Amino acid sequence: MGLFGGTFDPVHIGHLVAAEFVREACRLEEVVLVPARVPPHKEMPVASAEDRFRMVELAVAGRPGLTASRAELERDGPSYTVETLRRFRELRPGVRLAWILGADLLADFPLWKEPREIAAMADLIAVARPGYNEQKGVQILRARFPEARVEVVEIPRLDISSSALRQRLAEGRTVSVLVPEPVLEYIGRNRLYAKAGRRR
Ligand code: ATP
Ligand code: MG
Repeated sequence: MGLFGGTFDPVHIGHLVAAEFVREACRLEEVVLVPARVPPHKEMPVASAEDRFRMVELAVAGRPGLTASRAELERDGPSYTVETLRRFRELRPGVRLAWILGADLLADFPLWKEPREIAAMADLIAVARPGYNEQKGVQILRARFPEARVEVVEIPRLDISSSALRQRLAEGRTVSVLVPEPVLEYIGRNRLYAKAGRRR
């Protein structure tokens, strides 16, 4: 089973491509998208945890093998991966877990809470992302954590980020196609990301 954590503020097709392609490449039964309530290593999200979860739910709806989890919404404090993995070990005893992450996060991994424990509980699957050298990232990670099981999955490189989408939405520009249609509707209906005074 693959766990794919993130802020998903908002979820976009880069996330879905990563989830789908890793599921196929690693023959995972399920890839679970896990929105962080409070991301420990970045600024506070713009949309509420509940809205981000709803958008992830809409994005995976009708996609066999992709699901959304509330695991990090149910815990107080920063959403540490190590605690999420412990929770999934309880929920799904005996199931082999993989943690999926974008190449941009490889360099930060040693700064995460209890990285050694994370690597002991899960295989790490890094997906390629434009602007980041995943081979170098993996080399560094392997040097620091020789016992970690880490592999790279090559996926179509989509230069899309939630921050760039939020910026576009704040400017009243389109994010069509980059965000799944039901998510687009949800954003519009709930006026997420629009700058005050520019809402429509
Ligand atoms: P932000 O710009 O707010 O950081 P983001 O697009 O990076 O948003 P996150 O929620 O931070 O999205 O990322 C969740 C996970 O998805 C991370 O592991 C990240 O590396 C990965 N990811 C995000 N966008 C892409 C992409 N375009 N290609 C590959 N991986 C991605
Ligand atoms: Mg990010």
